[in-house]
Amino acid sequence: MKKLTILFLFTLYLTSCSSNKKIIEKPIIFDAQRTNLTKEYLLDRYGIQQDNVEITPKMIVLHWTVIPSMQRTFDVFNPPTLPDWRPDINSVSGLNVSSQFLVDRDGTIYQLLPETTMARHVIGLNHCAIGIENVGGTDDLPLTDAQLKSNIWLVKYLSKKYAIDYLIGHYEYTLFEKHPLWLEKDDSYRTKKDDPGKEFMLKVRNATKKLNFKPLPTN
Ligand SMILES: [Zn+2]
Repeated sequence: MKKLTILFLFTLYLTSCSSNKKIIEKPIIFDAQRTNLTKEYLLDRYGIQQDNVEITPKMIVLHWTVIPSMQRTFDVFNPPTLPDWRPDINSVSGLNVSSQFLVDRDGTIYQLLPETTMARHVIGLNHCAIGIENVGGTDDLPLTDAQLKSNIWLVKYLSKKYAIDYLIGHYEYTLFEKHPLWLEKDDSYRTKKDDPGKEFMLKVRNATKKLNFKPLPTN
């Protein structure tokens, strides 16, 4: 009897695995320069001194790219440095932007970086945040149902692997300014964000209610 129960549970487990979406590995360049710039970013922005570029994921941040194709987005994220960055000019950081995941219009999920490698995608919180970018987001190219499904799947998948406390849309990041997770040192370094839209966030939150993420700070 016990054996049968175990067999049944194992079959259930296999069934749930087979419905897993595939994540396609499409790594961006992570050479010595990107490694050094990431370490420098952790130290300069957050006061975190460490000999690696690892993060402890506690948050998932959803984005849209505005860039209309996966390949063009990849090409923007791929170089280690920002396109207009010049080391001789003082700026916040030369580290290029990126995110751990990129979801194409048809819902295909690409992984650009290991989940625990820091990506520059959200001011103040990169040391604890996994980023999911979605191709599109303009009036002409609103996010698709396929992207919605893939975001929901990814949020569930990541929540099983890590102790994720918060799920946010990029437009909500400044709510964390007085939160212990917020580490950005420069009070004037902020950008205004709308992505990935309130409607999209509402739908992802409704579909992931059971994960019981913490409520956002009210600031
Ligand atoms: Zn964003």
